Amino acid sequence: MTRPEDRPTHDVLLDDHDALLLDLDGVVYVGPHAVPHAVEAITAARARGVTAAYVTNNAARPPAVVAEHLRELGLDVTAHDVVTSAQAGAREVAARVPVGSRVLAVGGPGVAEALRDRGLEPVSRYADGPAAVLMGYGPDVGWRELAEASYAVGAGALFVATNTDMSIPTDQGMAPGNGAFVAAVVSASGREPLVAGKPRAPLLVESVERVGARSPLVVGDRLDTDIEAGHVCGIPTLLVLTGVTDVATLLAAPPDRRPTYLAADLRGLLAAPGDLVLAGTGADGVDGLAALRAGCRRAWAARDEGRPDPTSAADLARWSADVAAALAR
Ligand SMILES: [Mg+2]
Repeated sequence: MTRPEDRPTHDVLLDDHDALLLDLDGVVYVGPHAVPHAVEAITAARARGVTAAYVTNNAARPPAVVAEHLRELGLDVTAHDVVTSAQAGAREVAARVPVGSRVLAVGGPGVAEALRDRGLEPVSRYADGPAAVLMGYGPDVGWRELAEASYAVGAGALFVATNTDMSIPTDQGMAPGNGAFVAAVVSASGREPLVAGKPRAPLLVESVERVGARSPLVVGDRLDTDIEAGHVCGIPTLLVLTGVTDVATLLAAPPDRRPTYLAADLRGLLAAPGDLVLAGTGADGVDGLAALRAGCRRAWAARDEGRPDPTSAADLARWSADVAAALAR
């Protein structure tokens, strides 16, 4: 890919935006480790005056803990720059119940902390009389907490979920995400939650307000959360291929999950937007992914017109190899 210093300052993607709303897992880090080129690209963005907000559906860790992790990776981050779905969920609860209300908190410490920050009192049992239930991911959540949440929701408490991701990646494979636990409470109570995290709007709304963004760019690795959330909020999106989305998933994307821009990794922030854009025609590409972008346009047009996808198995293999080569560059 073109090195940032090779390009004039007025025609890179970053210059169209005053804030990046960055997803974390699969974009900035995978597990404990930084995604290659992510720290350098974000640091370059901030040097150009672009604000970085770190926006995560994961509600388990409080912002200060996430910020500490990001600092260990080499980023200049404070807790203020981190926006979690627990905070967005607590905001939704606080908008609907009186200050000081008891709220049944299910999930990691980030959930209870977000409630306290909004002047609410986290409790752990139905018998405590909660006005609302806020459910977020936590690795120690078990049947007892799900039962307490089900009793409260079944009795009419406000039901808010930080997010409904059905699975989460771990170093040993995919594991149940918060959505799987929420589904258990939905099954028991017969009631659906209000959802704060991506692809719903509250988390991005909280992020835009937090950093005062006027022309933000959503950056993510997942079509059904990050990219769809951008569509819901009318914010342009950059998809990077350092996380969960593979070429076949991208080609099969329905209209509301198609990104505005496609790049192999965050170096795309420093490429010309015209080289990364997926709509229209003429993206020449600077990273070896021009054939994939054209393939997306053909596959999506066919899908929208009810024709068979023209992508062949050989196309898929070639474009997947292009992505691997771009990431290795
Ligand atoms: Mg992600």
